[in-house]
Amino acid sequence: MVLAAASVSSLPLHAAAAAEDLCVGLVTDLHYADKPTSGSRHYRETLGKLEEAALQFERDQPAFVVELGDFIDAADAVETEQKYLRTINQKFSAICDSRHYVLGNHCVDTLKKEEFLGGVGQEKSYYSFDQGDYHFVVLDSCFRSDGVAYERKNFKWTDANIPAAELDWLADDLATTQKHVVVFAHQRVDVNNHYGVRNNAEVRNVLESSGKVKAVFQGHSHKNDLNDINGIHYCTLVAMVEGSGAENNGYSALRLAADGTIRLTGFRNQRDRDFS
Ligand SMILES: [Zn+2]
Repeated sequence: MVLAAASVSSLPLHAAAAAEDLCVGLVTDLHYADKPTSGSRHYRETLGKLEEAALQFERDQPAFVVELGDFIDAADAVETEQKYLRTINQKFSAICDSRHYVLGNHCVDTLKKEEFLGGVGQEKSYYSFDQGDYHFVVLDSCFRSDGVAYERKNFKWTDANIPAAELDWLADDLATTQKHVVVFAHQRVDVNNHYGVRNNAEVRNVLESSGKVKAVFQGHSHKNDLNDINGIHYCTLVAMVEGSGAENNGYSALRLAADGTIRLTGFRNQRDRDFS
């Protein structure tokens, strides 16, 4: 009897509610490369950290997983980068059949967009899809201010932009859905510093005008952050590559209820967020 009581009390608090919610697995800024540590970035350790995330997602059974950009780092040669991409994507692919990849600046530092997308088996860099009661949008901010797409070191990482054609597509896309909307981005659309998309105000204007966007999940600045701007939650997730050892990992399970309530369960250095 004592043992039974103890095991019940150790169950996660939200176990009952979570069963009906849509679950999405999130990771960001893996920066995988088979190269020595540089500063706080432990490139090789990403493989083990992703394995731990995979064990958690095996329990959570997400409908799909998303990596929010900077999946790889910046190899010296295209062939080397493609090898690193194959290695990390093999581990990521084993987690879930349904996967989404947000382009990060590092993903296209050595590769071209079509090479990265070809390597992970994804057709487009920005698009949307429906799952349950939600509409999800994947953004691509890897464009220079003159509209040229990032590829092979032709850009400064601080010059991230969402060009007019993508913004027009976004406005049209948001107009056609009746569902709650969640957006996935790499560069931040909630700040004006070097980590922000340069035309972030314009992007937020499109998101706000729709009246449907609940939250934006982003990476890029490697630290936990949260800004609520005009009714939209801009949640920045911690980078997987930062720090050594299992304790310096970060990944999360997003739970989305039919009523628009969103809860992020963070693991290791990733903070929990409750948007109810
Ligand atoms: Zn990064």
